[in-house]
Amino acid sequence: MRAEIVSMDAEHLDKEAIKKAGEILKNGGLVAFPTETVYGLGGNALDPKASMKIYAAKGRPSDNPLIVHIADIEKLKEVTTEIPEGARILAEKYWPGPLTMILPKADIVPKETTGGLDSVAVRFPSDVIAQELIKAAGGFVAAPSANTSGRPSPTMAEHVEEDLGDAIDMILDGGQVGIGLESTIVDFTEKIPVVLRPGYISLEMLQETLGEVKMDKGLLITDSSVRPKAPGMKYRHYAPEADLSIVEGETEKVIAYINSRASEVEEQGKTVGIIATDETADLYKAGVVRSIGSRAEEETIAHHLYEVLRDFDGDGVSAIFSEAFYTPKMGQAIMNRLLKAAGHKIIKVQEEQK
Ligand code: AMP
Ligand code: MG
Repeated sequence: MRAEIVSMDAEHLDKEAIKKAGEILKNGGLVAFPTETVYGLGGNALDPKASMKIYAAKGRPSDNPLIVHIADIEKLKEVTTEIPEGARILAEKYWPGPLTMILPKADIVPKETTGGLDSVAVRFPSDVIAQELIKAAGGFVAAPSANTSGRPSPTMAEHVEEDLGDAIDMILDGGQVGIGLESTIVDFTEKIPVVLRPGYISLEMLQETLGEVKMDKGLLITDSSVRPKAPGMKYRHYAPEADLSIVEGETEKVIAYINSRASEVEEQGKTVGIIATDETADLYKAGVVRSIGSRAEEETIAHHLYEVLRDFDGDGVSAIFSEAFYTPKMGQAIMNRLLKAAGHKIIKVQEEQK
C-alpha cells in the first residue's frame, strides 16, 4: 500500500489529518513527519512492535537506537529515571529545538526502542506539525530520520516518499525543513556531558551554557579503531550512489584540482558531479556543477547538503568532488556528515603538490 500524503503548514494545520495520523501511531502504524532538523519516521515509542517496524521499514540495524520525541517538557520525567542539573539547564534553554539528550531510561521505554541500551535519547522538536502529531499519538513518538538506512536524510516530503512510500502508512508534508541536519546529541550518562553528534547547537554554545562539555573521541579521530559512542555514527551514512571525494585546501588550488580531475573523468566518457558554493560555482569548467549554498550564510550549506547529494543520485554521475566546508558555526556538523558520506575520502591539495 502506498502512504497517504497530506500537505499542510504550521499556520494552516490540517487537524483532521493530524488526528488520523495520531490514531495510526496509537494503533502501531508508521507516520513520517517534518521537524526543524530533517523528516522523522514516527512510531509509538512505548510499543516494541512499532519500533521493530521502524527498523524494518528503514532497513536499519536494530542495535541503532531511536530518538524518543516529546511535545511537553514534563514528559521527560516519564521516560527517564534521572535528570542531571546540566540536562535540566539545556532543556530550559534549547527545548523545543534541535537538541537530543541521552539519559538513563525508565522501564516504560522498551529496549527495542533503545537498541538494547539502558539509556534513552529524548528530543522536544520545535516544529508545530511534529508537536501536534506527538500529542495526538499519546506523547511519545520514536523517530529516526525518514530515509532508507545509509541514504542522505530527507529534508522534504518527496525524499521520504522516494525511500519509504511503500513501507509506511502516512506522510505529513510540511514543506522543506529549516535546518537540514540532524539534532545535536548530548550524552548525560557520564559525569562530563559528551557531544555524540554535532548539529546546529555547537560544542561552543553548549560549553558557554554548561562549562565543561567534551566531544566524543570517536568523532574527532578518523582512525576507525576508536568507535563513536552513538551506535548510529559508526555506519556509513548519508551517502550518495557515486564515489564522493572531498577536496580541501586553498580555494584556488581546490578549484584547479577539481577542474583537472573532472576533465580526466569526462575523458573516460563518464559524468562527474561537483559540489560548489555560490561564490565558486562559475569557476568550474567541467561536469555537473551544483551550488550547495553561500559561504557568507553557512546555514544555507547545512540546509542543502542532503538535497544536493540526493540530486546527484538522480543524475547518475559516477564521481563527485566536493569543496570542504569548515565554516565557523556549523562547520563541525556539516563536515561530520560530508565526511561520512564520502567514507572519509579527503584529498588535501597543498600537501599533494609539495
Ligand atoms: P537518527 O534517528 O537517524 O537521527 O539517529 C539517531 C542517533 O541517535 C543515532 O546515531 C543513534 O545511534 C543515536 N542514539 C539514540 N539513542 C542513543 C543512546 N541511548 N545512546 C547513544 N546514542 C544514541
Ligand atoms: Mg538517520
